[in-house]
Amino acid sequence: MRYHKIPDETIKRLPRYMRALLLLIKEGRETVSSGKFAELLRANPPQIRKDLSYFGAFGTPGVGYDTKRLFGQIQAILGLDSTPKAALVGLGNLGTALLKYPGFKAYGMHITAIFDSNPEKIGETVGDIKVENVLELSTLKGRNMSLGIITVPAPAAQEIADQLIAAGVNGILNFAPYYLKVPEHVKVITIDIAMELARLTYYLPTKT
Ligand code: NAD
Repeated sequence: MRYHKIPDETIKRLPRYMRALLLLIKEGRETVSSGKFAELLRANPPQIRKDLSYFGAFGTPGVGYDTKRLFGQIQAILGLDSTPKAALVGLGNLGTALLKYPGFKAYGMHITAIFDSNPEKIGETVGDIKVENVLELSTLKGRNMSLGIITVPAPAAQEIADQLIAAGVNGILNFAPYYLKVPEHVKVITIDIAMELARLTYYLPTKT
């Protein structure tokens, strides 16, 4: 089931709610009060209640939210219940580090294909995935791959994005410091840790 008309700002917060719910589920908590949930998230309860009300998760008065049920509902809204498959392009420092991260699976996401252009890397296996030649990126078509992760140097990023999109990818997580141009139906999220750090320094107390 797909839900419509949920504001982008709410969609941005849903993965945070998932992360908190994962912690609670791990601790064996079956329910959580909205107050406790807000405290865990360092957020305000009305905001959370409003966000969750968009998809009819109102909780039970006096009991709160059923942690597993709420997790499942958020997974469904984000489309993670269909276990989206992701292809990673660029098996360098960052690509390798991302592949080692076990956290993707907890959210219901799987990286199932890896591509690189380096002949020394093509053919090697990472976990149980064989690294494929980037020249064969078009073979992704028909493999039901909805997401692409770009961890190649910036000059190669646009070409890789174009090829991923041509192969049917509709969502791109871009780590390359490059502004990708994509058709309207494709969603790109660019992550730049250096830029985040640059922003963070603004908030540091100034020395007098
Ligand atoms: P790296 O040089 O270690 O790895 C790049 C990999 O991409 C290599 O394996 C290389 O063979 C491969 N590659 C190069 N051109 C390719 C192409 N056309 N097709 C397929 N594979 C290709 O670099 P890295 O340190 O892993 O960084 C990767 C990217 O991520 C860079 O764009 C870098 O600027 C960026 N980066 C972003 C962040 C961030 O916070 N967003 C942090 C670190 C790095």
